[in-house]
Amino acid sequence: MPKPKKKTANTKSLRLSDRLARLGLSSDMARVLHLPIRYEDETRLVLISEARQRHGDTIQIEGVVSECDVQYRPRRQLIVKLQDDSGLLTLRFLNFYGSQVTQMAVGKRLRVRGEMRHGFFGDEMVHPVVKVINVDTPLPQALTPVYPAGEGLSQTVLRKAIDDAMSKIDWRDTLPESLRSSLDLLAFEPAIQLLHNPPPDIDADALLERTHPAWIRVKFDELLAQQLSMKRAQAARRQQGAPALSVEGALSQALITSLPFSLTTAQQRVLQEIRADLQEHYPMQRLLQGDVGSGKTVVAALAAAQAIDSGYQAALMAPTEILAEQHFRKIEAWFTPLGIEVAWLTGSLRKREKDNAKQRIESGDARLIIGTHALIQQEVEFARLGLVIVDEQHRFGVAQRLTLRNKGIDSVPHQLMMSATPIPRTLAMTYFADLEVSVIDELPPGRTPIVTRLVAQERRDEVITRVHAAALSGRQAYWVCPLIEESEVLQLQTATETHALLSEALPDLKVGLVHGRLKPAEKQATMDAFAQGQLHLLVATTVIEVGVDVPNASLMVIEHAERFGLSQLHQLRGRVGRGDAASVCLLLFQGPLGPVAQQRLAIMRESSDGFEIARHDLAIRGPGEFLGARQSGQAMLRFADLEKDQWLVERARNMALTLLAQQPEVAEAHLARWLGAREDFLRV
Ligand code: ADP
Ligand code: MG
Repeated sequence: MPKPKKKTANTKSLRLSDRLARLGLSSDMARVLHLPIRYEDETRLVLISEARQRHGDTIQIEGVVSECDVQYRPRRQLIVKLQDDSGLLTLRFLNFYGSQVTQMAVGKRLRVRGEMRHGFFGDEMVHPVVKVINVDTPLPQALTPVYPAGEGLSQTVLRKAIDDAMSKIDWRDTLPESLRSSLDLLAFEPAIQLLHNPPPDIDADALLERTHPAWIRVKFDELLAQQLSMKRAQAARRQQGAPALSVEGALSQALITSLPFSLTTAQQRVLQEIRADLQEHYPMQRLLQGDVGSGKTVVAALAAAQAIDSGYQAALMAPTEILAEQHFRKIEAWFTPLGIEVAWLTGSLRKREKDNAKQRIESGDARLIIGTHALIQQEVEFARLGLVIVDEQHRFGVAQRLTLRNKGIDSVPHQLMMSATPIPRTLAMTYFADLEVSVIDELPPGRTPIVTRLVAQERRDEVITRVHAAALSGRQAYWVCPLIEESEVLQLQTATETHALLSEALPDLKVGLVHGRLKPAEKQATMDAFAQGQLHLLVATTVIEVGVDVPNASLMVIEHAERFGLSQLHQLRGRVGRGDAASVCLLLFQGPLGPVAQQRLAIMRESSDGFEIARHDLAIRGPGEFLGARQSGQAMLRFADLEKDQWLVERARNMALTLLAQQPEVAEAHLARWLGAREDFLRV
């Protein structure tokens, strides 16, 4: 059999500039702003006799090689004995090249750096970093920076490229002295120089923790650039034309009158905010936040009514079929009696139905269109799209939202995004700075609070008994199967098994099953049966996470709650507590729990406030969750930390406003420096 061809390291053969470009380091300024991720302290040496007390520490030792042997038992390895005035230390290399054997020949003087451990040969270092030196090679005077590196780029090469760039750039400070001193900020050049070449007497902790004034300056600059570019995007948006939806006519009135409830004060307030935006000649970009069950749908429907009243179409896009269909049913029931045609478009429709829907959208007969991603497919053309509503916005990528926005014919439609995952203030001020935010901070009256309990997996039988009792008293329950992130197949299998087990344990109950792989029609049939009370218990994967609304369901069991994110648990829990019965959420967990998991579940037990939960989630998981999987990573700030540097975010924001108003040329220069160095840190 022919040997598989060895993969050649073709990254090595790329030109240096290409390798740097891969890291986003095409310009000199980008290279200068490529700052160390950490620093190593190579300024100090430890005596071998003292090294024995330092197990687990990374230390540096200098000595002369007294032995250098390749051994074959118990396995092939290179053993080097290093000697200084105080003792002898073993260095062990399991993978090594012939050149290393020569490099570390007996008599050579080495400076090695590695972790001390207790191994097969007593005290040793395995695979230390080795430098061959002379007796008079001086120790570095400063901490050694370690840069984020890419494939085929060593620290030395990066370092050289950065040094080279530092000799070329324009070091002028973008912030005038007066502004800097008012904020107590270090000047740009000394700050950057220091971060690349920290002096020997520096406060190493402040440097590593990134609280040193030099880091503060860099973080401030980064946040300021971000704020400025957000504001710029906002200004650009205001330049785009949008249809002014100024008519609050018959339909809006009729819809309000026909509702079986009156709007809460919070709903009325956000509706006013949205209505004011819709009347403008530039596109609205507003995020409607409200905890699960706060009643966002009706607000969205009223916004749509305003668009329709003004002679435009409105489209509502939801992330899943279940959710889209639920919206469709509810909204259709509101609008059809008022003589408004509502169209339904998802990927799973038959071709004929799809063509029919598209035709109605194109002709303008359909005034309100509800659907999934299918709405943003190329072939769908709207006659007069005036308003785009995106439910659970964080589940869509930016590109998807933009595509729908581009479906307007000669102007950009207004955009209303909805989310039950509250975006913490700092995030809203940074990544979402170009969004206006409306918050529904009040639940409709008559909701009973949900009691949350933590239950160890061993007590699963008691939980089953409880489900049984709830069913006998006329209540319904959800049973959410464990999240298995690594494997969808495994997750389905678990759901099917759980369904079988529970059906067997509860023979007198009707137990249904929904998961993401069911055909939409089957899924819908099961959901309908549950909504109509024909099923006592619904076993489900996280497909029921958003939007499902069955008021008679008052018990929720979540298995392996420790595997879910906090916001996700909160969303799931929001499926109960929608009727007048006291609701209970049981979080089954598999012990023993680590301290973080314990803390997380305790938060779920103690808080029912989506905002508070989101704040904890941000602290524990970072902002990716809120930005949506597709956005996270690329849009991240590199230096500033939204939790720790909240105070800086506020200052940067204020400074951005001041600069734009008073010194726009300074704002331009600052943006040019930071955006020129990095284009991808903002996407609107
Ligand atoms: P969410 O904000 O989670 O999307 P929904 O819009 O689905 O919440 O509303 C949850 C439930 O509350 C729905 O059954 C809805 O009809 C009802 N609802 C909305 N607003 C009110 C209100 N002002 N008074 C009473 N019930 C309301
Ligand atoms: Mg909803």
